[in-house]
Amino acid sequence: MKKPAPDVKRVLNILKSRYGESPHTQLKHRNNTDLFVAVLLSPQCTDKQTNAVTERLFKKYRTFDDYANAEIKRLSTDLSGLNYYRTKARNLKASAQTIKSRFGGKVPRSMDELMELPGVGRKVANVMLNEGFGIYEGIAVDTHCAVVSRRLGYSRHRDPKKIEQDLLRKIPEKEWGVVSNLFIELGRDTCKAARKECKRCVLKDICPSSSVS
Ligand code: SF4
Repeated sequence: MKKPAPDVKRVLNILKSRYGESPHTQLKHRNNTDLFVAVLLSPQCTDKQTNAVTERLFKKYRTFDDYANAEIKRLSTDLSGLNYYRTKARNLKASAQTIKSRFGGKVPRSMDELMELPGVGRKVANVMLNEGFGIYEGIAVDTHCAVVSRRLGYSRHRDPKKIEQDLLRKIPEKEWGVVSNLFIELGRDTCKAARKECKRCVLKDICPSSSVS
């Protein structure tokens, strides 16, 4: 018979011992302008792919003025190493224009305001709030986090918004800021979407989807 979902605190303690108390995003950035841009560009791409593009991008564009005034064809070319780069270029330029006109040139600090920006969904907003401002209004659910949440039995859903709601109910609020990055670390390490490697996973003895115990 399949094991029940393991105690959340126990899981988080094990993951913290393995991956660190407070792992952070691997998206490279110098400040919150860069962070916003990197997070906005990251969906449907690996962090490595995003970092390769932003490394060049951040040398050319430093402020939201630079992105807002960019010629769209040129900006698209600068993002062409990313999936959906044309859409991302349009969203980046439009977001920069809105940040300038509505928010005084600074990245807004609330979920509602961030969600007004083109291309920003809950995941992007959550990462920006968590990493940029230390504000935890929700939990960022990416592919890794979704896979790990389902395999551990914390959600049965595929829709990231529903998974987030399940996690918010099950995970103590003080842990909201770390759970996403801990699940991402586990997903990158052993709990890969295509092929899980339970034999060397730190949760193999308590995970209901473990192929070992
Ligand atoms: S034991 Fe297997 S299924 Fe469970 S979290 Fe680890 S890798 Fe994923």
